[in-house]
Amino acid sequence: MAKYIFVTGGVTSSLGKGIIAASLAKLLQARGFRVTIQKLDPYINVDPGTLNPYEHGECFVTEDGAETDLDLGHYERFLSIFTSQANNVTTGKIYQTVINKERAGDFLGKTVQVVPHITDEIKRRMTLLGKDDQFDIVITEIGGTVGDIESLPFIEAVRQLQWELPEEDVVVVHLTLIPYLRAAKELKTKPTQHSVKMLSETGVHPDVIVCRTEEPLNNDIKRKIALFCNVKVEAVIEAMDASTIYEVPLLMLNEKLDLYCMKKLGITEFAEPKLDKWIGFLDRLKYPKSKVTIGLIGKYIELQDAYKSILESFIHAGAMNDVKVQVVNIHSEYITQENVSEKLDGLDGLLVAPGFGHRGIEGKIFAVQYAREHGLPFFGICLGMQMAVIEFARNILGLKDAHSTEMDVNTSNAVINMMELQKKITMKGGTMRLGAYPCEIKKGTLAEKIYGTNMISERHRHRYEFNNDYYEQFESNGMVMSGKNPETGLVEIVELPSHPFFIGVQYHPELKSTVERPAPLFVSFIAAAKLHNEKKSAVKSHSLQDALI
Ligand code: GLN
Repeated sequence: MAKYIFVTGGVTSSLGKGIIAASLAKLLQARGFRVTIQKLDPYINVDPGTLNPYEHGECFVTEDGAETDLDLGHYERFLSIFTSQANNVTTGKIYQTVINKERAGDFLGKTVQVVPHITDEIKRRMTLLGKDDQFDIVITEIGGTVGDIESLPFIEAVRQLQWELPEEDVVVVHLTLIPYLRAAKELKTKPTQHSVKMLSETGVHPDVIVCRTEEPLNNDIKRKIALFCNVKVEAVIEAMDASTIYEVPLLMLNEKLDLYCMKKLGITEFAEPKLDKWIGFLDRLKYPKSKVTIGLIGKYIELQDAYKSILESFIHAGAMNDVKVQVVNIHSEYITQENVSEKLDGLDGLLVAPGFGHRGIEGKIFAVQYAREHGLPFFGICLGMQMAVIEFARNILGLKDAHSTEMDVNTSNAVINMMELQKKITMKGGTMRLGAYPCEIKKGTLAEKIYGTNMISERHRHRYEFNNDYYEQFESNGMVMSGKNPETGLVEIVELPSHPFFIGVQYHPELKSTVERPAPLFVSFIAAAKLHNEKKSAVKSHSLQDALI
């Protein structure tokens, strides 16, 4: 039987429950336990796949093709494990299951109610990953903030499990905020007291209180929180703002969060945490030897969460290369043929981001053209790869109206076309080509050099693909289709051997990048950007010397 840790949040949203949950999981994993994390989201969408990135940030796709909350990305990046369909549950999913059962007659004769039917289904999902001896500890993050109407059934399910399971099998960790009032120069505990009170009113009593704070908590404050919130002083954990999220596991180790949780769980045998790889990564991250500037071209750049996995992959790849990756966000909607060189001036690499719909498309194409013509390292992901194909078709093959049928259904040169299987689909949720598919890599290509193998597997989320009717035309003019799906022939990777670094991929390599296993494509892209930067500096110092002579 697995043990369960529930993480709830109070006072305000965005306190970083996902990071705290992932950090605790990391520490327990480093001590030798098999740990997984799941997220329970109280909204009614069955999954976040149909949500606008402005609304909910990036949609993280798992190996088995679930469209999930971006916190699952943190879990995978911290733990280097794969999550699955089972790791993200929403109110929508719970109701869908219960209503389907009701229609099937499973509750025949009964009134179907929130308690017990909805809460039973929540409890079933909460404990699902703990069955079959796969994991020693299952951490469940409850989305939202205590006091929200919509999270009530989830909190009620935690209350029931707190009573139903043996006492030493459940820990509730509550994350709150201790605001610092600058004018009074004081930390305030009242919001935390209120939030714990509200949680207790629903019958759930927290065992541990993790306090987000800008200023260190002294012992008096810790004692005060312990006294008013009915927990031990050692169960009041300080979570200071950190310079990087990857430092949080070490902060939690210092505060003994893992030790306290293990004590409550009755775990007496555990190893010293093995964190050498993690600490090595942190050192390289904190002390980079140089810097590269990467342009991120997208249309959701106002909201950083929309490109979460890409930004984190840059951090992993930067540390591998001992460089700091400075990302410059460039809105594709404002790039024109006239201003493109000014907008992209000074960059060491260009990443054209994934996306949907026609807004900002032409700007992306101009940016690709600039990178191709100026030998600027280029990396296109999903829509970014499709834009590279369109740019090549228009400017090298001379197919002036080349396009994707996503943007122009009437184009006479649909170099990017809707996948055959997608044409019959009318429903929107969970119907794209999703999850991991194999890709066979051609010998002697850049892709082969990057991955060091000829067979890879990467995750997908798209409806459109390269139109293979144009295959010969592209290859004979210098664009190599270096990766394809071995069964369907769907083009997965395109590259330009005549360019220092130009690669586009139909899949999302950012979804598999972790601290301990950075994505090879990102590592190589940053290495190419570093080289580009060094060459630029060499040329500069050369011309400076010339001027001095
Ligand atoms: N809109 C494109 C497609 O559906 C690209 C999707 C993406 O970038 N994730 O194929």
